Amino acid sequence: MEQYSCSECGTKYEITPTKWRCECGGVLDLVKDTPAIDVAAWGNYPHSIWRYVETMAFAKESKMWEQVTMGEGQTPLIRLDAQEPHTYVKVDYMMPTLSFKDRGAAVLMTKAKELGVSKVIADSSGNAGTAIAAYAARCRIPCDIYLSDETSPKKVAQIKAHGAAIKQIHGTREEIAAAAQQAVEEENVFYASHVYNPYFYEGTKTYAYEIYEQLKGAPDTLIIPVGNGTLLLGAYYGFQELWENGLIENMPKLVAIQAANCAPLAQAYQAGEESAQPVANEGTLAEGIAIAAPARSKQILEAVRHTNGMFIDIKEEEILNARTELSEKGFYVEVTSAVNYAGYKKYKKAPEETVIIPLCGAGIKSK
Ligand SMILES: *Cc1c(COP(=O)(O)O)cnc(C)c1O
Ligand SMILES: [Zn+2]
Repeated sequence: MEQYSCSECGTKYEITPTKWRCECGGVLDLVKDTPAIDVAAWGNYPHSIWRYVETMAFAKESKMWEQVTMGEGQTPLIRLDAQEPHTYVKVDYMMPTLSFKDRGAAVLMTKAKELGVSKVIADSSGNAGTAIAAYAARCRIPCDIYLSDETSPKKVAQIKAHGAAIKQIHGTREEIAAAAQQAVEEENVFYASHVYNPYFYEGTKTYAYEIYEQLKGAPDTLIIPVGNGTLLLGAYYGFQELWENGLIENMPKLVAIQAANCAPLAQAYQAGEESAQPVANEGTLAEGIAIAAPARSKQILEAVRHTNGMFIDIKEEEILNARTELSEKGFYVEVTSAVNYAGYKKYKKAPEETVIIPLCGAGIKSK
């Protein structure tokens, strides 16, 4: 049986529908050994994130995912342009709900369905809520999504379409999370949080597995936008599993991108701190990464340091230009995702360095 363990104090817990945080306040991880990767078995599964299901924390005989999947994953890895042959974009907006969050949501909701939960609650700046709402609908599990009253109307419309109850709140991202957590406690239901629930990372780690297959190895460097770090940590865990299985020789360097107006992790990194202090969000066009107090800050900082990575922060005036430049190359991303390309442009790469930039959300999601 799978278990949770606290990342702060090590206390272990059974996985139940209502457990989402340690008594000490620490975030929970899964207790598990590095999976023994059987590359030959991947071909036994559909062309989706579920190719790697044997590496995920599910019982071997569990087939619940077959009822939940919408074909998420296996997104294209494309050369950015002919002038830069070692730079690729991974087109993760080609997903059922048009963002990479489907990787995590599909796995998290599969676990929720396996646990037989009666209702889920999540809070989000938009895309995670959309993904959870879609997969909750697919699972026929009622779902409440807590959002800011300033969330992009197109993301709100997407969530509504899936039949989720929308709780729009006037407040900071942290206040919205607190409202959702209070409701989770009061209603005694499942917290389908992309931040707190470690199953989400069992999904986002497939980002690494796919790149490994597409490049037939590891890249030198991953550019990754970071708010709560769900893609960054997933990529890190995935490549670590590949490395521990001897399938790659080196861990890719993680280059983490934040918006300068809301950059608690970049600041902590520069100050040499182990975890991030909350900052005041000064307002950014990059709504999807405006996280002032990321709950997994310690793990994110550790991952970036462990791979000899770095943080780059992006000023507001750099964001829209980057979006335009990407559109001119054919890739139409939501405004938040333009910071990824802006970060790449600031990153000083070596001549033959293989770099991957994720295109995390589709252009039609934002203004
Ligand atoms: C969620 C999201 C991010 C940031 O992911 P975190 O898990 O918060 O680090 C970046 N871009 C887009 C489009 C997103 O939806
Ligand atoms: Zn604890």
